[in-house]
Amino acid sequence: MWNNKIDQTTNAVTCPGCGLSCDDLKIVTSNGRLTSMHNGCVRAHRFYDTAFSNIDRTPMIDGTPSSLDEAIERGAELLQKSCSPLFAGLATDVNGMRSILGLADRCGATLDHMNGDALLRNLRVVQDNGWFTTTFTEVRNRADLILIVGGQCIERFPRLVERVLHPAEGLFSKPDDRKLVLLGPWIGGRVPDLLEHLNPTLIPLELEALSDAVAMLRALIAGRPVNTGRLDGNLGDALSDLADALKAARYSVICWSAAELDLPHSELTILGLAELAKALNNESRSAALPLAGTQGDITCNQVSTWQLGYPVRTRLQRGYPEHDPLLNRWQDLIERGENDLLLWVASLSSETIPPSCDAPTIVLGHPGMVFNAPPALYIPVGVPGVDHQGHWYRSDSVCSLPLGKLREIGLPSVSHLINRLHERLQPAASEPAGDDPC
Ligand code: SF4
Repeated sequence: MWNNKIDQTTNAVTCPGCGLSCDDLKIVTSNGRLTSMHNGCVRAHRFYDTAFSNIDRTPMIDGTPSSLDEAIERGAELLQKSCSPLFAGLATDVNGMRSILGLADRCGATLDHMNGDALLRNLRVVQDNGWFTTTFTEVRNRADLILIVGGQCIERFPRLVERVLHPAEGLFSKPDDRKLVLLGPWIGGRVPDLLEHLNPTLIPLELEALSDAVAMLRALIAGRPVNTGRLDGNLGDALSDLADALKAARYSVICWSAAELDLPHSELTILGLAELAKALNNESRSAALPLAGTQGDITCNQVSTWQLGYPVRTRLQRGYPEHDPLLNRWQDLIERGENDLLLWVASLSSETIPPSCDAPTIVLGHPGMVFNAPPALYIPVGVPGVDHQGHWYRSDSVCSLPLGKLREIGLPSVSHLINRLHERLQPAASEPAGDDPC
């Protein structure tokens, strides 16, 4: 039995604060409270501080406190009445997502992750063209040139430098010999200190100009006749130098965060980056490193893909999966009023509150959530990696990492709650076979 009263020191904790999933944190708790943390970045501190400072586990029905049994009853009622439910958010661990898929199948729901836009920017490229990606370990040990596209990789993945780009040592290439090129909105030359120390080559340009720059880079590498002078300033010359450096590298890595590339048609820019890595493999070794995984988006997508055969943005209304990356976008479904219920799952952050929606909303959410308007039902859930054990996938998708438990305050996991709702929806013995309860 879990004993909150004793001091606990847990080593090798996997942090679910971002998709990097650092697994070297040391966390000390006493009496169920966080007392110290080692190796955590600012973002990790925010993640654990928020989780440990929120302990209220009272469910709310229309803003009124209720028991958990009443809340489950109300949730089952709402699901039962719904003909076209939308299950969105989906920020949970592997077990949570597996249970969600079971319930979605039962209810004929449509599924999308809160980061669906960013996720699909990458997935469209995989679906249409395929890509060649690498892992954090490969980058640490082999890369001799790393091209970082965009300007937010460090903000979004704070320990990227020490964990991946420039670790203390590398097996087959020396991190100190590694070249780093930053292609992105570095106008004015201000670079985060962590990157500045690595003496990077800066190629400043607005994100809107990225697509042109990537196209020119591909043409240069393919040996096409290109007028580099048509680009502003000395951008053409800088791209020409970069093309030469990429061709000369033994193992180049091209890294971006699709969440930052929030521009119309940016999947075409990502396609260009993926194709660039492919072309470089004709003569040497190169690979893409798309950064993602925050709020469990990679986890959600992995489980969806292995269970349904399709990624998120899939509808289960006809008894089989129908994947449509455009029609099943959660924001559009809500705006068009196509869902008559929203089940919003967000166990990892108190800030990911549900969108405003005309349909009744069930929230299985972080215990620190504060709503603009009370949803039809809110059940606080345990934070994976704090309140319960589990697994989740980091950005490079290659392995699932274990999430540990750090306290016991009675907050149920998403998986537990979804399974209870599912059980409640099972047909009673008296119900005719094949009767659809949702
Ligand atoms: S970089 Fe990400 S995974 Fe690593 S400690 Fe910070 S928030 Fe956690």
